[in-house]
Amino acid sequence: MGKFNIAVLPGDGIGPEVVNEAIGVLNTVGSKFNHEFILKEGAIGGCAIDTFGEPLPAKTLDLCKSCDAVLLGAVGGYKWDNLPGDKRPEAGLLGIRAGLGLYANLRPAVIYSALKDASPLRSDIVKDGIDIMVVRELTGGMYFGEKGRVDAGDMGQAAYDTEKYTTFEVERIARLAFEAAMKRKKRLTSVDKANVLESSRLWREVVVKVAKDYPEVELNHMYVDNAAMQLVRNPMQFDVIVTSNMFGDILSDEASMITGSIGMLPSASLGQGSLGLYEPIHGSAPDIAGQDKANPIATILSVGMMLKYSFGLEEESNAIERAVENVLNSGFRTADIASQDSKVVGTKEMGKLIKEEIEKI
Ligand code: NAD
Repeated sequence: MGKFNIAVLPGDGIGPEVVNEAIGVLNTVGSKFNHEFILKEGAIGGCAIDTFGEPLPAKTLDLCKSCDAVLLGAVGGYKWDNLPGDKRPEAGLLGIRAGLGLYANLRPAVIYSALKDASPLRSDIVKDGIDIMVVRELTGGMYFGEKGRVDAGDMGQAAYDTEKYTTFEVERIARLAFEAAMKRKKRLTSVDKANVLESSRLWREVVVKVAKDYPEVELNHMYVDNAAMQLVRNPMQFDVIVTSNMFGDILSDEASMITGSIGMLPSASLGQGSLGLYEPIHGSAPDIAGQDKANPIATILSVGMMLKYSFGLEEESNAIERAVENVLNSGFRTADIASQDSKVVGTKEMGKLIKEEIEKI
């Protein structure tokens, strides 16, 4: 029996609805497998602005630091759209990732066989399903490098952003990606732009060095422009992809889009140690908030990732994934993934079906 403390940050819009279903699933796993999950709720995003005047109150960050893992719904909404950048709900997301020292973002892009028709790619390209894990560096590179504007004389202004990586930063993300590959099909693609960028040449050197510690993993390198093409030409060739912050930002969105269902995709942000932040990749979907229409599966699968990556509960995590697959195979869908002959259900009913399926496993 395990005992785990989880900070729960439902956030805004559909956040509380999907988090509620994920908690239901967590409790079902807890009683079935005899674990105790102690849930402690905190505020982030728009609701935190309304109550505490800031998107990430210090007490929320302290709560997260005191727990074993964090479950986050989503933040943002029309009400806060006109606030300045650093006061907006989304500033809370950057703040919590930095505050918890989370330097790696793991995003699986999976096409379940029951949902193949949802992919915008031709059926012959996705016929055997897709199962890719994108590992993105989260706290370095151009988004955090030196930036500024200078006077460029007759040419107006010049603006610059600096792509910079240290050996240390590349080594730790590479190691995490090799470890992820070891738990999967043992294939790793490192994506860079080493034909042009010095920072990419260092990236590649370090990845090659780390590879020596993982002789079982088959490593290849790909330029980012080619990787963007290969993802739509032949996505089945990929197992784990590791890349920098900016390239990962773009490629992980591309990989999610080819699955065709934003409401299905979970994510994990990890750092030193086992503390991780788990959240769906979608936003707060204010257009459907409060209507029992949101697909809770991305958040439920995020809990599955939490069990695997922060708590080492592989069997329990697999039970969640299998339950989701079984429910989809039985023809149940929320509206966002429904086709003509689906049995369309709401948020709560989808959560209930998945819980019942876990009981049966
Ligand atoms: P979004 O992901 O919220 O919604 C995009 C579209 O997908 C909408 O039509 C929405 O109804 C649909 N959708 C999203 N999740 C769904 C789900 N689980 N089930 C069914 N349909 C779903 O993106 P957006 O509309 O660009 O942004 C809305 C708000 O969310 C903004 O304030 C934005 O800043 C914020 N946002 C937050 C996060 C986050 O919290 N991590 C991420 C992205 C956007």
